[in-house]
Amino acid sequence: MYEPTNCQPREKVALIVPYRRRKEHLKIFLRYIHPFLQRQQLAYAVFVVEQFDSLPFNRGMLMNIGFKEAIKLDSFQCFIFHDVDLLPEDDRNLYKCPEDGKPRQMAFLMDIYDYKPAPNSYFGGVNAFLTTNFQLINGFSNLFWGWGSEDDDLYRRLLHHNLTVVRLSLMDSSLVQIARYTMLDHDLVNPNPDREILFKEGSYRQKYDGLSNLKYVVLKIEVTPLYTHILVDLRPKMPK
Ligand code: UDP
Ligand code: MN
Repeated sequence: MYEPTNCQPREKVALIVPYRRRKEHLKIFLRYIHPFLQRQQLAYAVFVVEQFDSLPFNRGMLMNIGFKEAIKLDSFQCFIFHDVDLLPEDDRNLYKCPEDGKPRQMAFLMDIYDYKPAPNSYFGGVNAFLTTNFQLINGFSNLFWGWGSEDDDLYRRLLHHNLTVVRLSLMDSSLVQIARYTMLDHDLVNPNPDREILFKEGSYRQKYDGLSNLKYVVLKIEVTPLYTHILVDLRPKMPK
């Protein structure tokens, strides 16, 4: 947990980073993000949630786990769910929850897309949530194994609860540049072939699929100076 010494921040922010086998990215991310956040005089902590098993990567579940474990450790009012390969370029991109309490889509101009604005329905990469709002929507779905659509499902959960999303681009076109990000290079991951059908049926499941039915085994929680490392096994437990 980092806290500035010369002022009293209004909220504590938890950054949740889903992670597996991207060591170089994690190194660069941590080196970059700490000075960035400290320039903003935030009270914050970084949680790296690592998937131990070799099942397909489950980004949504790792975010849910990060959320649950972080609130056990401290009273965070704001959560920022953050891919490890995205680096914010502009110091005015404040890593806190908007004053009006609405969820915020933080990354929508990326170097790999020549900084072309993402579509307004895009809700991936980096998002900020009030703790209460994330609880209200029951977090991410746990069912998206492999790449794709868990972010679209999350967006639909927001709409379902009439939570509108803040995007700087819509507020004032001169602010658009603030949401610029660099994405670190990586190979494309194979998309999950079931993602479309899962997404289609997902609206029936919001209440039962998410924080409310999350199951996992924590193998290790280690607090290091730069982050809290949470190593988890997502394999379903076999009945004995
Ligand atoms: N991720 C990871 N290991 C993986 C796959 C994904 O750590 O094998 C994490 C990492 O934080 C990454 C995020 O999940 O930034 C999103 O995955 P990816 O970058 O492959 O998807 P993209 O959004 O670039 O299509
Ligand atoms: Mn990526």
